[in-house]
Amino acid sequence: MTDSPVILWFRRDLRLADHPMLTAAVASGRPVLPVFILDHETEAQGAAARWRLGLAVASFGQSLAALGLRLTLRRGPALAVLQALVAETGARAVMWSRLYDPVSRNRDAAVKAALTAGGVSAHSFAGHVLHEPWTIQTGQGGFYRVFTPYWRTVRSLEPGMPSAAPKALRGPDAWPEGARLEDWALGADMGRGASVVARYQTVGEAAAQQRLGAFLDHRVERYQERRDFMAEAVTSGLSENLTYGEIGARQIWHAGWRAMQEGAAGAETFLKELVWRDFAHHLTFHAPEITTRNWKPEWDGFAWLPDNRQAEAWRRGMTGEPVVDAAMRQLYATGTMHNRARMIVASYLTKHLLTDWRVGQAWFADCLTDWDPASNAMGWQWVAGSGPDAAPYFRIFNPATQAAKFDPEGQYLHHWLDPEAIGTLDFCAAAPKSWAIGPKTPRPDPIIALDTGRARALAALAARKA
Ligand code: FAD
Repeated sequence: MTDSPVILWFRRDLRLADHPMLTAAVASGRPVLPVFILDHETEAQGAAARWRLGLAVASFGQSLAALGLRLTLRRGPALAVLQALVAETGARAVMWSRLYDPVSRNRDAAVKAALTAGGVSAHSFAGHVLHEPWTIQTGQGGFYRVFTPYWRTVRSLEPGMPSAAPKALRGPDAWPEGARLEDWALGADMGRGASVVARYQTVGEAAAQQRLGAFLDHRVERYQERRDFMAEAVTSGLSENLTYGEIGARQIWHAGWRAMQEGAAGAETFLKELVWRDFAHHLTFHAPEITTRNWKPEWDGFAWLPDNRQAEAWRRGMTGEPVVDAAMRQLYATGTMHNRARMIVASYLTKHLLTDWRVGQAWFADCLTDWDPASNAMGWQWVAGSGPDAAPYFRIFNPATQAAKFDPEGQYLHHWLDPEAIGTLDFCAAAPKSWAIGPKTPRPDPIIALDTGRARALAALAARKA
């Protein structure tokens, strides 16, 4: 009985260090059976996230192999797969790291109930965020809806020291059959973009640690002053790795905290940004509807347009508004977009083009390799004005002014729009042929004048209030 294996169900926790579930598995003294399941919920992710997940799974499989373990791959409903593995291996326990978005929570609750009812113990662990969402409470005992007091509370809390990677883990005597990752074709919907986007990815636990180290050694000093400048790679880039759990949020927190204590100028601002991610999960846990519905119900009557031709021009980087198009090209070619640019394009879509934030949310979900259900929803609702603690709707970003301020020398625009620039060439190589966009395709005239779009948005706001 004590030698029955523990099934370790990996999802967005594809690392060995700072891993409470792994620590518990080692402490159990039992052989471990790591498994990754391609279930419907995982398969339903956007094209870029699904493809990038495949890279994360491959890399993590290699890390496990170095410890003499296998990552068993299975496809199908998570519960059915886990029950089959239990039957095949005699496992009596299943473990996983918790996720907080409604899709994952619904699935996990059903899995836990059914396993437990079948006599198999099911344990979930922390590890995805700094603080479990229910542990941070306001003075009145509710959850936070405003970031600044949330940050003040979290800043004074110690999120727990990350554990080291286990040196040795024992596998079962016999490994169950598993699928081959190549057969899943996780990149099938990426079209010709995959080879381009691949050049912009930093995959795996070791690479994520290097990325954190390089950021803290070379860039954190400039973070506070320069993080909004779109052509400067001053930010950490770690959202990509956090998405798949290739690095733990607590590892980043403690490294950032040390840098702060050693006097690094931008370290506290960096920690504060990291806490925005926790805040997104906090909100999503307590109010799951944030991912699909206007947080503020009064926005339900707002005259947002459904998907439309101008939104399609936005997706293709063909609005004629230079910084919007540059940013949309960056998204398509790299799987990421600078945070300042995310705010600019989200504002342009929801205000100048009066288009529902969910149209933009869905495109980001399809294109981002750092796609995160909580941060994406919070980001869109924040910019649109419908979210908690959101920027007021009437604060409409002027893309031209934003570009002048945060790309004063025009390097970002040059990189993504000039016919011979690398960014343009990468975007054109990645873009679907049906878009018929080449490096020399003439840039369109603006699909809407900025003052017209602004006036229309303000009129729609006034109509909502009436
Ligand atoms: P850094 O500046 O180095 O920050 C460190 C870490 O803090 C990031 O890796 C990230 O985990 C966290 N962080 C920073 N800013 C934010 C923020 N505003 N909200 C939440 N967490 C933050 N982030 C995602 O990870 N996935 C998404 O799907 C996503 N969608 C977004 C959609 C919109 C409309 C907007 C406005 C923002 C979105 N963000 C999203 C937040 C933010 O743009 C990215 O986290 C950031 O650009 C990542 O770059 P970085 O890792 O270099 O960040």
